Amino acid sequence: MTHALPPLPYPYDALEPYIDAKTMEIHHDKHHAGYVNKLNTALEKHAELQDKPLRELLTNLATLPEDIRVAVRNNGGGHFNHSLFWRVMKKGDRSEPKGEFAMAINSSFGSLESFKSGFSKTALELFGSGWVWLCYRDGGLMIQPAANQDNPVMNVGGEPILGLDVWEHAYYLRYQNRRSDYLEAWWNIVNWDQVAANLTEARKLAACISASLEAAAIPWAIRTR
Ligand code: MN
Repeated sequence: MTHALPPLPYPYDALEPYIDAKTMEIHHDKHHAGYVNKLNTALEKHAELQDKPLRELLTNLATLPEDIRVAVRNNGGGHFNHSLFWRVMKKGDRSEPKGEFAMAINSSFGSLESFKSGFSKTALELFGSGWVWLCYRDGGLMIQPAANQDNPVMNVGGEPILGLDVWEHAYYLRYQNRRSDYLEAWWNIVNWDQVAANLTEARKLAACISASLEAAAIPWAIRTR
């Protein structure tokens, strides 16, 4: 077993009343655990890939053996996405983006309100199961939808710093078909401090990549991030 299910960083009921404890329990212990197990099963067929960091597998999908490429994309993506998702939520406390991070939001979207409405609109328009990502790319922030368990690191479309799971399994018990109610509730539990920390990391990573590209002058170096 090379990949492990990270524990939830809070109790199942920490996000009540916005996300119910039963949904959190099933989502983490069954869905996320399932992605981890299926990823490990896929990698059993290719022992040489078992020690590779997950991120590296996802940024190099096209080079993976064909017989496990789809499994790694779906289950590795699921593992990566949910690991980020748990951390960008916390007990509702009405906090808002602060300082430099608030300025980054304002400079890319005009205001926090217009960012939130753009993000929510993207989530409402997303057909079927998928994610909405807030990404750092080319020095700015952008909103990106993704189908299934895809995410921006798979196609170098940006570094995700905030993600919203819009699969029905994320909200159906409490909200049934009312995705817009789930969205409205979700804004109460976004962990903005963690998102700000993710942006700081994303900037460092981008600086590293561009430095290594300049030093090596090899376009494929971007794949090693
Ligand atoms: Mn999910």
